[in-house]
Amino acid sequence: MTRDDPTPDDHDGEEPFPEGERDTDDGEADANDPGDTEDSDLPNESAVGDGLDIPDDSAAEETTNEASRPDHRPAAANSTDPTDPTDSDPFAVHSADELGSASDPSVDDGMASVTDPNPSPEGGESGGSSSQGLFDDLLSGDPIFENKDVLRPSYTPERLPHRNEQINNMATILVGALRGETPSNILIYGKTGTGKTASAKFVSNELETTSQKYDVPCEVEYINCEVTDTQYRVLAQLANTFIEANQRHVEERLDEVRALADRAETNPGALDGTEFETPEAVESRIEELETDLDEFEPVPMTGWPTDRVYATFFDAVDYRERVVVIMLDEIDKLVEKSGDDTLYNLSRMNSELDNSRVSIMGISNDLKFTEFLDPRVKSSLGEEEIVFPPYDATQLRDILAARATLAFVDDALSEDVIPLCAAFAAQEHGDARRALDLLRTAGELAERSQTDRVDEDHVREAQEKIEIDRVVEVVRTLPTQSKVVLFAVILLERKGAKNINTGEVYNIYRRLCDEIDADVLTQRRVTDLISELDMLGIVNAVVVSKGRYGRTKEMNLSVPIEDTEAVLTSDSRLGDIEDVKPFVQARFDN
Ligand code: ADP
Ligand code: MG
Repeated sequence: MTRDDPTPDDHDGEEPFPEGERDTDDGEADANDPGDTEDSDLPNESAVGDGLDIPDDSAAEETTNEASRPDHRPAAANSTDPTDPTDSDPFAVHSADELGSASDPSVDDGMASVTDPNPSPEGGESGGSSSQGLFDDLLSGDPIFENKDVLRPSYTPERLPHRNEQINNMATILVGALRGETPSNILIYGKTGTGKTASAKFVSNELETTSQKYDVPCEVEYINCEVTDTQYRVLAQLANTFIEANQRHVEERLDEVRALADRAETNPGALDGTEFETPEAVESRIEELETDLDEFEPVPMTGWPTDRVYATFFDAVDYRERVVVIMLDEIDKLVEKSGDDTLYNLSRMNSELDNSRVSIMGISNDLKFTEFLDPRVKSSLGEEEIVFPPYDATQLRDILAARATLAFVDDALSEDVIPLCAAFAAQEHGDARRALDLLRTAGELAERSQTDRVDEDHVREAQEKIEIDRVVEVVRTLPTQSKVVLFAVILLERKGAKNINTGEVYNIYRRLCDEIDADVLTQRRVTDLISELDMLGIVNAVVVSKGRYGRTKEMNLSVPIEDTEAVLTSDSRLGDIEDVKPFVQARFDN
């Protein structure tokens, strides 16, 4: 449709983008085609397949190694000869020798000639059960990682350098729970990667182990509200956790009381000094406990009215005397998604509970969410506030160094790796998660490039890769309208436009909207969307004065164009747009 659009400058009838030109990937496609590699010109190419035509042994070995790559066929015979000149070939199986591996295909020689209808002169080249060498070269290098998991977000470190102050503050507030007092509610906030979750979990573990050690009834329940993000789910999860805890408690009690009943049958003195005066009292206690056990009913994941879920949770908590600390991580996500009802309900529980007490610890990446809270909830939740400031580069170095010792083999990191990771992450608002990601990714890149040492270049490459991954994720989750606006910017840049102004973007945007049947927003709204893209770091927009024509925004894409375009066109709506280039061209000639 757009192609036929009679825009004024279309009259020359020139097709600026003939079909063929759109396929710019030719070179790459060919590189993957085994038939198109240099090797295909070798006279022995056909010999590789049936192994019959090889005129000269030594030459054949070399050729075989080379030409067999596209097939993933290791030349097994090589691995048995330590003096083999082709040993440097990454596809040779020498690595299996180093590993003392039993999978060395050469040991299968006999088998191969039995199963192979077309045995090669060397024998064993295509042993039926032997590996094709896919993993051998990857295994061949010295390992870099001792334990990569240590660098993953799921790992809980035993020590948290530079968080003593925050951890001690939490402990000072929560210690009341171990004395049977109700601790103040706590609100923790700080940017992502400042150690909030790790510290909260650390404190929670300590609190629980100490409560067990001194046998004081204190329980900590951790909920990640990014996952559990509605009032129903939060209450249901809490209810079910406490129901399970109550069940365990009642079962233990039952065992004790039943054992006592048994002893009392043969020895009436067994009840002396217990809470029971008569065997009947013991029996009725057993019945009570059995009834309780029957009555515990877990909350289904959906379907109950919220009132009932709340009441069940309430009863489960109040079933016995204890102090309960509820940690709500990513609490802002809960409020954003489901409002502050949950927090309201939780924060006024204490006035109604008979046996137990509840204390809330909310953890948030930004403090703004408190603006959306009912003032009562806000003041209750914020009784105590603890701030987690960003780490600086020096602190990040300490954190990385501690992890690196566990994660990497000795000497795997060259000197500047940790400082560079720390410096990059310090720029990224002091994010320890980013620092660890960088270190892990740098290690993986080094591993892939088959060196045994991570160096500065790997870190830079990792930084780039992570940044692209971030952009991809941000772009992928943009609303459709923003995607269309961004697509317009990309199409203009593709045409070599610099300092693209809002008007140009808007014109392309409108036509793209037509194409995909989307509503066309006003230019003003599109300008807002551009500002949002600017804030996300996807475009860089500056306001420029055009003298008597007023002001406009001029922008450039600040992310890699290829990756961004690929994400956009993977959206089914945008992917459907065909022939975009011709009509961009048309626009441009205006
Ligand atoms: P937040 O919850 O503030 O976003 P996390 O607690 O999840 O941050 O921390 C992010 C990553 O950094 C985790 O892998 C965590 O183990 C690590 N980390 C954060 N602070 C420290 C620290 N002081 N010492 C060691 N590791 C830390
Ligand atoms: Mg967290």
